[in-house]
Amino acid sequence: RDRNPGEDAFLQAVEEVAEDVLTVEKANSAFAAARVLEQLTEPDRIITFRVVWEDDTGTLQINRGWRVQMSNAIGPYKGGLRFHPSVQPSILKFLAFEQVFKNALTGLPLGGGKGGADFDPKGRSEGEIMRFCQAFMAELAHHIGPDEDVPAGDINVGPREIGYLFGAYKKHHGLFQGALTGKGQAFGGSAMRVEATGYGLIYFVAAMLSEQGDLLEGQRIAISGKGNVATHAAEKAIVEGARVVTMSDTSGTVHCADGMDQDAVAWVRAQKAAGGDLSNPPKALGLTFHEGALPWQFEADIALPCATQNEMDAEAAKSAMAGGVKLIAEGANMPLTADALAAVEEAGILYAPGKATNAGGVAISGLEMSQNAHGQFSTAEEVDRALMRIMTQIHDTARDEGRAGGRINYRRGANIAGYRKVATAIAAFGVI
Ligand code: NDP
Repeated sequence: RDRNPGEDAFLQAVEEVAEDVLTVEKANSAFAAARVLEQLTEPDRIITFRVVWEDDTGTLQINRGWRVQMSNAIGPYKGGLRFHPSVQPSILKFLAFEQVFKNALTGLPLGGGKGGADFDPKGRSEGEIMRFCQAFMAELAHHIGPDEDVPAGDINVGPREIGYLFGAYKKHHGLFQGALTGKGQAFGGSAMRVEATGYGLIYFVAAMLSEQGDLLEGQRIAISGKGNVATHAAEKAIVEGARVVTMSDTSGTVHCADGMDQDAVAWVRAQKAAGGDLSNPPKALGLTFHEGALPWQFEADIALPCATQNEMDAEAAKSAMAGGVKLIAEGANMPLTADALAAVEEAGILYAPGKATNAGGVAISGLEMSQNAHGQFSTAEEVDRALMRIMTQIHDTARDEGRAGGRINYRRGANIAGYRKVATAIAAFGVI
């Protein structure tokens, strides 16, 4: 706390992991000697830079960009870029820290990083977004590369932005290299990368249910968010026979007790793409809009928070559980506050953390990196099969490490399994 004053999100993420892994560290003399957790809480480096670009009126705009390179102990730095006015070092440090454990859990050789800018794309034209991405990459290009650091998308950075960023990277270096993932398939992207995080979340939930002898079919699922993760989770859940009862954004929640259909999900996705909100669903879709309401106010069996960090506080978690929720799986990174997590664990319902459940996106990014390195591409079916295999393997690893007293603590299991892999590498390096 003394070393990171005021960095609440980062401290929250570290405290949640430390609780589980410190006993493992103390019990292993090599890990203890290497002071692994302390090393992992100090980024290898944080790069801060100025981003200067011109808006449509010809006025100069100045933003701040960052890349937090947390750990490359088991592979090149890897993690998304986020463009949002709330972006600042504490947020990126928490995301990069989580990313180290998540990437280790995938079983792929990926280190952890995260980056972004305090740029707000809301209300910006296509041309402004392109110029911002180019100006951002003019600086970031010095610090990334296929064996060094491979960014991807995150909030407000989707396929369109990755296209602009990759074009700018390629122009800067004069090299066609897979220094970014989430690329379009026309220029080295992997099939299924866009869908991977949301679909992977549903595969993980299916594995959790199967462990309890239960199925996805017929479950009522409350989802928050209307972005990449939320819409693909909803799409897959419907295919699997579940009933998606809510989706949301900062304006409020759309609800359908009978379950949304794919047309309703497509409308939600289109609102996000157009920069609109959810306040006016067409009548034919059967959705009701509840201004300012949270998805957790409606009855459901499963809650999937897929919007942003700390979106579910203790009151919201209790409301979800009172409405029937018996399983919470995180689509977003750290969507539960520390108090919400405590309430959920006290109630004893099933819970799984984002570092395990939303790892599908980075796992397919990892496959995109190897496809780029070999120049051979997999079909959507092959990638989907790999995604399901990886998510099931992450589930099983977290389950096996998390078994305690006849229950499964997926949080503890994911933290310890991710830590063990990275710690083994760090301890092997000696003092460097
Ligand atoms: P998007 O930008 O596609 O979507 C985020 C959406 O969340 C926005 O539409 C936004 O609504 C909504 N939102 C933000 N804050 C709130 C809030 N407090 N309540 C309700 N809705 C809110 O982002 P992604 O889907 O890519 O990312 C969502 C989360 O998933 C993030 O935590 C991200 O780090 C995580 N994640 C993403 C991965 C990926 O592959 N994309 C991989 C792993 C994790 P509005 O339009 O009103 O601002």
